[in-house]
Amino acid sequence: MKDAKQLKEELLYTKKTVYEVLGDDEVAKAYDYAEGYKSYLDTSKTEREAVDTSIAMLEAKGFRPYALGDTVKAGDKLYYNNRGKSLYAFTIGTESLEKGIRVLASHIDSPRLDFKPCPVYEDCGIGFFKTHYYGGIKKYQWTTIPLAIHGVIGTKSGETIKVCIGEDDNDPIFYINDILPHLGQELAKKPLGEAIEGEMLNLFAGSRPYSGEYGADSVKLNILAILNEKYGITEVDLMSAELCAVPAAKARDIGLDRAAVGSYGHDDRVCAYPSLTAMTDVDSAHTVMCILADKEEIGSEGNSGMQSEIFRDIIVELSKSLGADEAIVRRNSMCLSADVSAAYDPNFKGVFEKRNNPELSCGVVLLKYTGARGKSGTSDASSEYMSYLRSIMDKEGIVWQSGELGKIDAGGGGTVAKFIANLNIDTIDVGVPVIAMHAPYELISKVDLYETYKAFKVFAKA
Ligand code: MN
Ligand code: MN
Repeated sequence: MKDAKQLKEELLYTKKTVYEVLGDDEVAKAYDYAEGYKSYLDTSKTEREAVDTSIAMLEAKGFRPYALGDTVKAGDKLYYNNRGKSLYAFTIGTESLEKGIRVLASHIDSPRLDFKPCPVYEDCGIGFFKTHYYGGIKKYQWTTIPLAIHGVIGTKSGETIKVCIGEDDNDPIFYINDILPHLGQELAKKPLGEAIEGEMLNLFAGSRPYSGEYGADSVKLNILAILNEKYGITEVDLMSAELCAVPAAKARDIGLDRAAVGSYGHDDRVCAYPSLTAMTDVDSAHTVMCILADKEEIGSEGNSGMQSEIFRDIIVELSKSLGADEAIVRRNSMCLSADVSAAYDPNFKGVFEKRNNPELSCGVVLLKYTGARGKSGTSDASSEYMSYLRSIMDKEGIVWQSGELGKIDAGGGGTVAKFIANLNIDTIDVGVPVIAMHAPYELISKVDLYETYKAFKVFAKA
């Protein structure tokens, strides 16, 4: 009979932290890697900015623009910029395209407050911008925090003006009022989700009247005068704008040990950044594609979302150029749908099922399925694909964990996985566990980020 202790080691699964498995040298590398990530976060607060930042990184590594119909060959490093809002970067491998593409797909949009088409108004001497929230937010979290305005204004002459106010230390910032506790006693009795309503998320935009004009709407006039002076625009130009309020804070280390990073928009730049850097750093015989998608937070809709035909169009065009059968290319492609998962949070034990929940510091997460209410809305990766990934990760010593999103029927969620799986591509959700996902300031662990980067490289090469 075998010794019980030995049998335990052989038979039982024990989750371990990256610290325990890999030790201090590897942790030091993770800390280094996180520095680049923090810079990426600070210059990529909207999908458009993430596209710009990513293209700059790609061009520094020798990538050049690709247009549909271009001839491609092995060794090419290319990117397709989809309307400045989503990005498809790829390296053409030496191996036949019919052996499949290794796809790393993440998203670069995050929950935020979009401006309404007619946003500027004045009430009791205060000027405001009206917003319409984008994605799943807890509205009360967006009051009384420093906010910045990012985006573009499309003018009638066809010009696209970039806007970024509130990131430079000398810039003004914006703000959403809340009621003082002394007078908020009735409001405090309301459920969290109801106390602050969408129509209360109005940005404090100014309080000084236009000089010499002190009647109604003189503060509004002054705000429009400042915008006109700065950007040459009038009120109606805001109808063709994409402006949004995002937290003005920069990414910072959290905790005395500096092991965690706090930031706006970890979901899903914490997967976008390692996807991009893994693709540019790895030397693979396969064709590798990194997708940075828009609109995931509102269902992957539209021509910049993952449901857009553009992904398939690119595969069709690459197949044509390389003499491959597109259906075979898709059948043999594999995808990591790179998105965040909810880290087990000891402050909110009630909604998690500890045995089956990703934990902070325990490495990259492989989620076989997501979804809600009986797995609705998930593509559910196959056992064969999951076991393939497990084996290549173990072979390279990647610290990984599995799990699902919280307790059954506690809620749920989806990712871009199903839209890619629908194209007959093996797809699984992989990513970084996050604390306080969708909050204005989220938290991740540096070692989880680094294991994710390493996992993406292993996937791209294997
Ligand atoms: Mn996400
Ligand atoms: Mn999300």
